Amino acid sequence: MSDLNYFDYAATTPVDAGVLEVMLPYFGEMFGNPSSLHRQGQRAEAAVEQARETVAAGLHCDPGEVVFTSCGTESDNLAIRGAVVARRAATGANRIITSRAEHHAVSKTAEQLGKLYGFQVDWLETDEYGLITPQAVKQAITRDTALVSVMAANNEIGTLNPLSEIGAVCRAHALPFHSDAVQAAAYLPLDVNELGVDLLSLGAHKFYGPKGIGVLYVRKGTSLLPAQTGGGQEGGLRAGTQNVPYIVGFAEAFRLTCEERDRRAAHVRPLRDQIIGRVLEEIPDSRLTGHPELRLPNHASFAFKDMDGNLLLTLLDAAGFACSSGSACKTGNPEPSEVMAAIGLPPQWGLGSLRVTLGKDSTAAQVEAFLDVLPGLVQKARALNRR
Ligand code: PLP
Repeated sequence: MSDLNYFDYAATTPVDAGVLEVMLPYFGEMFGNPSSLHRQGQRAEAAVEQARETVAAGLHCDPGEVVFTSCGTESDNLAIRGAVVARRAATGANRIITSRAEHHAVSKTAEQLGKLYGFQVDWLETDEYGLITPQAVKQAITRDTALVSVMAANNEIGTLNPLSEIGAVCRAHALPFHSDAVQAAAYLPLDVNELGVDLLSLGAHKFYGPKGIGVLYVRKGTSLLPAQTGGGQEGGLRAGTQNVPYIVGFAEAFRLTCEERDRRAAHVRPLRDQIIGRVLEEIPDSRLTGHPELRLPNHASFAFKDMDGNLLLTLLDAAGFACSSGSACKTGNPEPSEVMAAIGLPPQWGLGSLRVTLGKDSTAAQVEAFLDVLPGLVQKARALNRR
C-alpha cells in the first residue's frame, strides 16, 4: 500500500486484485443490461444470477432470497423501513425494537420512522460492553412490535451480539428479525438459519469488494415494502438496472471471504491481542471499549481519559498511521458518539476514543511500529488538550 500504515479496515478495505479482475469484463465487452432479451443482455443476466447463487451458498440460503442493493446502508434502510411498513399494513403493529449502539444506517432510519411516520421506537439498553442480551429483547417485545433489529458486530467497539439466541426469541414471538452484518461478514460465518435472522445486511467494501454494492438477505415469506419502485428488478424489491460489474465483484469478494475467513481471522487475532495488551499496559488512564472476548478478531478499540480522539488521529496520520475514532464529527466541537454514551463512558473518556482495525495484509512489523509511537502521541495529545 502507500507510505501510510493502514489500521482502518473497519472503515473500508482495498479491492482484492482477483475481485477487480473478474469485474473488468463487465465494464467492457459484457456491458449488457440484464433485463434485455438479446444475447448481450442474457450474458449479463447469467452473471447476476451466478453471483446470486455464490452469495446464497455463503449465506446458506436460496438464491431467490438474495437482493442486491447499492450498499450496506441501503440494505438496512430497505430491511427496516420495508419490514415495518409492510407489517403495520398487515397487522397494525407499529413498534420497532433496536438500540442506540447501532450504525446510523439503522438508528437514524428507526428515528425517522418514529418522528415522521408514526412508529414507536423501543431503544434497548446495552450492557457496559455494548452487547444486547436476548433477555433485553424478550422484555421489550409487545403485541405491537413489528420488527427487531440488532447488529451482528459493532463497528465502533467490535462487540459481537448473541444473534442465534436473539433470533430464537424473535422466532418464539413470530417476529421478523433483522441484523446488520456489515462488519461481521469479513470474519464471522453467516449461516442465516443458524443465526435465526429473517433479514441480513451486507456491504462488499468491508471484505475486499468494491464500495457501492450491498446485499440484503430476505427470508422467503418476509413481507417487505419495496424501497424503490420501477422496473421490478431484484424480485420487485429494488427496482433499477443492476450494477452488473459490482454485483460480480461482491460475489467474488464474498466467495473468497468465506473460503479464507478462518485463515484471515487466525492472522489478525494475535496482532489484535498484542495491540490490546500493550496499550492497556503501557498507556495510563486507558481502557478497552467493547467486549474483552466477544469481539471481532481484527478489532481493537480504546478510550483514553482527558484526550481529544480527533487530535490523536491527526498526530497518528502525521506519523504515518491511519486509524479512526468514535466521535460523531471530524471537525469543530465533537460530541462523544452514541455508542460511547450507550456503554456509559463518562464525558472525560467519551471524546478520547481510538479504533484500530486490522486486515489480511497487516503485518507484525506495522503493529510494532504503531505500538512504539502510540504512547508518546497519546501523551502529546493530552498535553495539547490541557493548553
Ligand atoms: N452498518 C455498519 C455496522 C457499518 O459499519 C457500515 C459502514 O461503516 C454500514 C452499515 C454502512 O455500510 P455502507 O458503507 O456500505 O453503506
